[in-house]
Amino acid sequence: MKLIDSHGRTINYLRLSVTDRCNMRCFYCMPKEGIVKKGHAAMLTYEELLLIAETAVGLGIEKIRITGGEPLVRADIVDFLRTLSRIPRLQHLALTTNGLLLEEMAADLYEAGVQRLNVSLDSLNAQTFNTITRGGDLKKVLAGLDAAERAGFPPPKINCVIMRGVNDAEILDFADMSLSHGNSIRFIEYMPAIKEDDWQRYCISGVEILDRIAVRYPLEQEDKGPFAGPSRDFRIPGAKGSIGIITAVSGHFCSECNRIRVTSTGQAKGCLFADAKTDLLPWLRPPDREGLAKVLKGIVSAKPERHNISQVGYAHTNFTMSQVGG
Ligand code: SAM
Ligand code: SF4
Repeated sequence: MKLIDSHGRTINYLRLSVTDRCNMRCFYCMPKEGIVKKGHAAMLTYEELLLIAETAVGLGIEKIRITGGEPLVRADIVDFLRTLSRIPRLQHLALTTNGLLLEEMAADLYEAGVQRLNVSLDSLNAQTFNTITRGGDLKKVLAGLDAAERAGFPPPKINCVIMRGVNDAEILDFADMSLSHGNSIRFIEYMPAIKEDDWQRYCISGVEILDRIAVRYPLEQEDKGPFAGPSRDFRIPGAKGSIGIITAVSGHFCSECNRIRVTSTGQAKGCLFADAKTDLLPWLRPPDREGLAKVLKGIVSAKPERHNISQVGYAHTNFTMSQVGG
């Protein structure tokens, strides 16, 4: 079975957020004071998250990425991932993490059946990292990356949000990292996720990032593999790892969009930057598998053709990135 939206795109990817809580406070993702904590009852239980995942896979979803907030802070996450990994016909189970808890959890995640990890890492400088994340410890994240490879994972993909005047001086340092490390380093354009009037001041386009790398290194374009996602990938000849750009703002990849999202409170979204959301709770409490399948299909067919964040006067959505899961 295939899920096709009304613009002819095949939707085979679900991003499922398991919590909106986090052990970091990245300034571009969360307000300093954190988000207003939802009561326990508002969060989907693992049974409810599983029902969504199974129903989505039954409809044609092939890849699930677990995200948050920080997914590794939710209690019993490893057992939940093990259950997910056993869903028949689910081809790919991935997880995005800030890496703080990876050192102690990598082996369990691998054993539970997670196939790939994306780790967010915006700076290789301990002080800058600490400032961006409002307190994060770079050493822990680097130790987590090592632990992931020791556990058997392929080198995690690195998500790096580049912001003018914050960490753009490190673009070449990350490019250097790709020479000696097998990680795919994906530079993500800064997106308007917290309510800030002059968010554009941080934006650096993917093209500018590539231009800055090209001053030092030639870049060869890489072929897209299955489940490659929105990243356009390149490699410095002879480098162990690759470099990618995710141009959500400047050159949006909406025509290739293959995903839907569900938040940890059961709000389904067809587009990260659209206000439209569908509350899945009526089909989860009590569980109604058939009704849920119908409503998920409806969300897919109502997916907007494109987002409008590049347009003048774009109004922020009502969600922070930590609530939707990126
Ligand atoms: N806590 C996990 C992490 O940081 O990897 C998973 C959730 S986080 C919301 C998922 C991704 O969204 C991260 O890679 C993060 O860098 C990205 N993100 C958050 N806010 C963003 C923004 N304003 N612009 C671009 N990417 C953003
Ligand atoms: Fe937490 Fe990830 Fe958001 Fe940073 S980007 S505050 S680690 S959810």
